Amino acid sequence: MESRTIASRPTRPHPVITPETAPFWRSVHEHRLSLPRCSVCSGYFFPPSPFCPRCWSGSVLWSPVSGTGIIHSFVIFRRLYDPSFSDLLPYSVALVELDEGPRLLSRITGPIEACVGARVEVVYEELDDETTLPLFRVTGSAS
Ligand SMILES: [Zn+2]
Repeated sequence: MESRTIASRPTRPHPVITPETAPFWRSVHEHRLSLPRCSVCSGYFFPPSPFCPRCWSGSVLWSPVSGTGIIHSFVIFRRLYDPSFSDLLPYSVALVELDEGPRLLSRITGPIEACVGARVEVVYEELDDETTLPLFRVTGSAS
């Protein structure tokens, strides 16, 4: 009988989910993006906190956001720092500024065409059955 060895890459790092971030990761797993929003000043913010970073109100609700925005800044990884990312090289990681204001650090999928100001939209990557990541893809050039 023929024996085969299947090369498997190491598992990519998973997010550390805390009570404060659990609603975010739950919404992402359901393929929608929700962020904390202050009921007093109406501002969205990220990372999650029990208090609004602008007015310090403790009246915070999770609200859906568009999932669209622009690349505020980015880097392209051409060197492998984590073996679990070997199939992705080269890849870019961007600071995405959502249309609602908050900024998220995430990976850009697709061709390496990232540039500051480019329009992006969220896409979802199933890391496994329980964990989904919000990634972004470029939808338009910088204006
Ligand atoms: Zn506020």
